[in-house]
Amino acid sequence: MRRILLPLLIAASAGAYEFDLKPKNVAPGITCFFGEPEVMNTTNNGNMVNTCYIDTKESYVVIDSGSSYAYAESGYKAMQRIKPLPVAWVINTHVHDDHWLGNGFFAQKGVKVLGSDDFVHNATIDSPTRIQTHISPEAYALTVPILPDTLIHSDQTLRVGDQEIELHLMKKKAHSEKDMVIFLPKLKTLFAGDLVFNDRIPSLNGGNINGWIDALDALRELNATTIIGGHGYRTDANTTEMTYSYLTRMRSEIRKALEDGVGIDDAVQKITMEEFKSLRMYETLHRANVEASYRLLEWE
Ligand SMILES: [Zn+2]
Repeated sequence: MRRILLPLLIAASAGAYEFDLKPKNVAPGITCFFGEPEVMNTTNNGNMVNTCYIDTKESYVVIDSGSSYAYAESGYKAMQRIKPLPVAWVINTHVHDDHWLGNGFFAQKGVKVLGSDDFVHNATIDSPTRIQTHISPEAYALTVPILPDTLIHSDQTLRVGDQEIELHLMKKKAHSEKDMVIFLPKLKTLFAGDLVFNDRIPSLNGGNINGWIDALDALRELNATTIIGGHGYRTDANTTEMTYSYLTRMRSEIRKALEDGVGIDDAVQKITMEEFKSLRMYETLHRANVEASYRLLEWE
């Protein structure tokens, strides 16, 4: 057995790590890579986030660069096989590192990278990074945390090829301090970043349940027919439903608990929200979500 494995291991370490990313066409000119609905680990190696390519006819605009250099390179190669186009922009939806550690791959190609000015304040680049401590060294190789070179502090519209690309910054802290969504009016397509989760429990770590619910209410005004979240496979017009019902249900249960004088420990025990129990990452995230939201809502 050992004699068979050894040459294979040597072969694997010789080249760059290759992710088997499967491009999925979700709307005309919109191709996305959907990550596993799970925490980053040495099995998915950071392929647990969604990233997308907009074909503007003359170039691609990339929504989130993913969790590592190798992830970004694998997605780029897959897109070049579909249609060889240069990348005009990479847009980062928010500061969490699974969404932007692939920036370095694009920056090396001279691609402009855009994000909100929250990157100045809240992009914690720990050494090692969070992703680095969870995935294999092979998958993380060549990854250098590169922040966006173009920072915006208010809503903007980019015109690239045949697309108008609206960049909307959320007014209040929601999933993160300043979440950006990207809307294509021509295609009625919305890239909602981590304001939208599906197929797994959302993470309220560092977020604000009230601001998040308000943000989802505001997104409804865009009347998008295709909505792609930061995590999860769903892309139809009702893609926001799961996150919305999870957050609104949690808020009303916590408010009720506060009215009834239920303390935080009991609330965390009692607010189990059974209908969400079968979702991935429930055991990892749900109790922490209740606890974080209780601490916020007790000051209302
Ligand atoms: Zn996030």
